[in-house]
Amino acid sequence: MKEMLIITPGPTAVAENVRLARAKVTTNPDIDLEFYDFYKRTCDKLAQFLKTKNDLRILAGEGILGLEAACASLTESGDRVLVLDNGIFGHGFAEFVELYGGQALLLQSSEKEAFDIEILEKFLEKDHDFKYATIVHCDTPSGVLNDLSKICPLLKKYGILTVVDSVAAMGGEDLQVDNWQIDIALGGSQKVLSAPPGLTIVSISPLAYQAMENRQSPIASFYCNLLTFKDYYEKKWFPYTMPISDIYGLDQAVDNILFDQEILKRHAMIGKATRKAIKNSPLELYLQNGYSNTVSVIKVPNGLNDQELLRKMRQDYQVMITGSFDRLAGKVLRIGHMGENARTSKVAYSLYALQKVLEESGLKFETSLQEDFLQALK
Ligand SMILES: *Cc1c(COP(=O)(O)O)cnc(C)c1O
Repeated sequence: MKEMLIITPGPTAVAENVRLARAKVTTNPDIDLEFYDFYKRTCDKLAQFLKTKNDLRILAGEGILGLEAACASLTESGDRVLVLDNGIFGHGFAEFVELYGGQALLLQSSEKEAFDIEILEKFLEKDHDFKYATIVHCDTPSGVLNDLSKICPLLKKYGILTVVDSVAAMGGEDLQVDNWQIDIALGGSQKVLSAPPGLTIVSISPLAYQAMENRQSPIASFYCNLLTFKDYYEKKWFPYTMPISDIYGLDQAVDNILFDQEILKRHAMIGKATRKAIKNSPLELYLQNGYSNTVSVIKVPNGLNDQELLRKMRQDYQVMITGSFDRLAGKVLRIGHMGENARTSKVAYSLYALQKVLEESGLKFETSLQEDFLQALK
């Protein structure tokens, strides 16, 4: 395979020390008690990084597993669930809720802005009889960032459990699980954390456990049952064999992030500079506000084909950015400046390549995306 600059919003580039950690000699993780300690230490570090005292678990499956596991473990037949919907992943939670027999009520807010707190406030005044609510931190297809610091405490005021998909934000945007009262927070290995795809990270509050334990009916899944992991350490038993090499890699990736004191600042600077360069060009950002610093989403200029542009970027410049999917397929291009991708040289070269490809396709620029980006970092 040709060497590519991977600058997609997941999977992200993987650091060399993470790749090497995955090559370490392995043991039998079911039997070797030292592995239980290793797993626990990795979880404890992740909890520190999520600013939580809640239990933390690493599950063997990419982010989607966490979304489904949260819904499977909490939902009973007929449960009402509030699904906050201002993006494709936000909307998608309803499917998991319904798959497990729940009644999903979608509350919509503009897809081009952070979720409007007033809409939620007004709605909850009238109707707040929900077991839990779901919200996406950064909804990656559009890049919108929702203000969890306001949304989750508001839901909790009404006794509604909070389930947050922070797969595309965790590590690149502030996430304070305890302060913001998040009952279940979900992350994936392949986004900001910059380990290869394959693992879900989930934090579970005592109230969320209580809701699972007080169910009338059993959880209708084994793989998605979060209770099966609850006492793994005391019992020295995992519900299925842990992918030990993946967890070695994740542990190193977490160390990289914990060591990197400037990580949030760097994401903020790179996000802001990217948006500034785009705004100063003939290109247009998709969002009106609520920009996540982990991904920039740009409208495909009129008359151009996203797949063609992406192909040229790969073929002629060895840069891999991406389009989007579902309702946004064909409409936007996305630069994923998250985790290992959030490096000025990588973003600068991606912007250079993007401009070249657009110019070759007939778009006229009076500015340089790359220079504007670099200038804005100063
Ligand atoms: C990437 C992502 C997921 C997980 O999707 P996978 O297909 O498992 O990678 C979930 N939610 C959001 C917001 C994401 O960006």
